Amino acid sequence: MKVKIQVIIESDDGRVQGVEKVACLMLGTLTPEKLVLSLAEARGILQALQQSMRARQVGDYTAERINCPCCGKRGVQKGHHPILFRTLFGKLTLNSLRLHQCDCQPTTGKTFSLLAELLPQRTAPELLYLETKWCSLLSFGMTFDLLQEVLPIGDDLNVARLRNNLHKVAVRMEAELEDERQQFVENVPNSVPMNSMPDPAPPLAVALYGAYVHAAGLETRKENWFEVIVGKSITAASEGRYLAFVHNYDDWNRASQ
Ligand SMILES: [Zn+2]
Repeated sequence: MKVKIQVIIESDDGRVQGVEKVACLMLGTLTPEKLVLSLAEARGILQALQQSMRARQVGDYTAERINCPCCGKRGVQKGHHPILFRTLFGKLTLNSLRLHQCDCQPTTGKTFSLLAELLPQRTAPELLYLETKWCSLLSFGMTFDLLQEVLPIGDDLNVARLRNNLHKVAVRMEAELEDERQQFVENVPNSVPMNSMPDPAPPLAVALYGAYVHAAGLETRKENWFEVIVGKSITAASEGRYLAFVHNYDDWNRASQ
């Protein structure tokens, strides 16, 4: 059995404006694998569906904006050029119209791209959100493998792009903090500027270990025992410090009971 998936484009008043083929599935003998869509089939259908829908939307947007918004005169075309837009469901290639600036504008003679002005960022916000989320939880390499396996994001994704996108999001979030940024640094009054803060101290490594010591020769292990805790702190500039205590026999602990 053959199953065809088509997109039917209708105008607002219900008139059919076009029918486009999205995918064709061949259904064989029913098996657990054939009962549901495979990941590859689902990715292919979503990618083709999205490309079909967006091509129509770009056409409508271009038709609306080709006339000058100030004087209404039809724009003079310079040509077309492709714009690549990365999304969760694949890379879209959008055909953008380039127009000459209208005579009524002070910058006459220049050209501009309709879609380039609409899409200054070439990665969909939802894809950027997923990239950023997983990059903050996993390594760049594991995030790349995860996204590549699950989503039809194409071959233009790589570790360097993930790292650059994460950096841009981090810079933008830092900028959005503005005055609140100072509040994330503890014990520093707001009057102290960030660039006047001292360099951080060398790293300090702390190790703690605890054990229970039981008296020998008793019937149960619930009597005559104590807990020993020992620790060591080491910095790059010193040989370290040691500590050890038995809290059952600690003077402060006994006094508080
Ligand atoms: Zn004009």
